[in-house]
Amino acid sequence: MPATATFSASPKLSEPLGLFGGTFDPVHFGHLRLAEEAVAHLDLGSVRWIPAGQPPHRGQPQVTADQRLAMVRLATAGNERFSVDAAEVEAAVPSYTVHTLERLRGALGDSRPLVLLVGADAFAGLTGWHRWRELLALAHVAVSHRPGFPVEAASLPDELAAEFGRRRLHAAADLKTAAAGGIITFTMTQLAISATQIRKLLRDRQSARYLLPDDVLDYIQTHSLYRNP
Ligand code: ATP
Repeated sequence: MPATATFSASPKLSEPLGLFGGTFDPVHFGHLRLAEEAVAHLDLGSVRWIPAGQPPHRGQPQVTADQRLAMVRLATAGNERFSVDAAEVEAAVPSYTVHTLERLRGALGDSRPLVLLVGADAFAGLTGWHRWRELLALAHVAVSHRPGFPVEAASLPDELAAEFGRRRLHAAADLKTAAAGGIITFTMTQLAISATQIRKLLRDRQSARYLLPDDVLDYIQTHSLYRNP
């Protein structure tokens, strides 16, 4: 789908679907708040969580993809707006977001607004993603950032700054006027939690409680995950 065509869609589009990919190694409250606040700020109908199978941007995670998927299922189970997409985990090939978006476009049609949710750190690295420009033809991108620290074009690589300037949307309602192609930012509660920090705590036999859901922590303990360096 050419990028220029995406803004010519009719205003009668169905409600935007958030797509939230990540390694989730393990899933934690930073991820959950990002998805929850995206629903609220961007008026999303729902969020589809898409754990990466073989993440191309980083080393092999310490636990299996099925275990990361199981933890995301546990973490999201109580929220009726959240669903989990296992396709990347089940695929035997490396996970590229552009392939996932192509698959979802094929399944959901050309008119449904898709909104790829990313943190500001992930967005700053977008030009390193496989076929990154095509992502913007397939979905909108919504970037979460800390209160008081808006996404600044000056802090982005030149190519991305240009796209940011050209495609920027200023209201959640704009996500409904096209199926793809916009970039919107939203503030979210700052939770300085990372999966890296949680893995380190667990490796050091320290408490990771209250950084992630109890059900996920129970799963980690039951399966003796993240104990080895
Ligand atoms: P790691 O520490 O292993 O790199 P992570 O905690 O950053 O992992 P990812 O699975 O890599 O988690 O992140 C998935 C998405 O969630 C990314 O878009 C990232 O920007 C976002 N994200 C991660 N942690 C937070 C957080 N604490 N607050 C907001 N967004 C977050």
